[in-house]
Amino acid sequence: MSSMDDKKKICRRCLIRDLAEEDRKNLKKYLDVIEPQDRADPVEYERRLSVCRECDLLVEATCQACGCYAEFRAFGKCSRCPKKKW
Ligand code: SF4
Repeated sequence: MSSMDDKKKICRRCLIRDLAEEDRKNLKKYLDVIEPQDRADPVEYERRLSVCRECDLLVEATCQACGCYAEFRAFGKCSRCPKKKW
């Protein structure tokens, strides 16, 4: 077995929606807690996530600047990117 086989692949620029179904279910549980009036507009939400996907600080669906899942961070209407990218 090569050493490459021993290493865990680091998923850069991925979101939870790209991961396993169980991860997606867990995200939905988090997001469902946020009241509808406190959620970002869906178009704005997708725009924010497209910025995150291009960000070097996104690693394994997590923003390395704040430690949050990007999809959770971007979901709140009043949320801001810690690096002011959105
Ligand atoms: S929230 Fe901001 S800093 Fe974090 S991954 Fe998204 S764009 Fe990058």
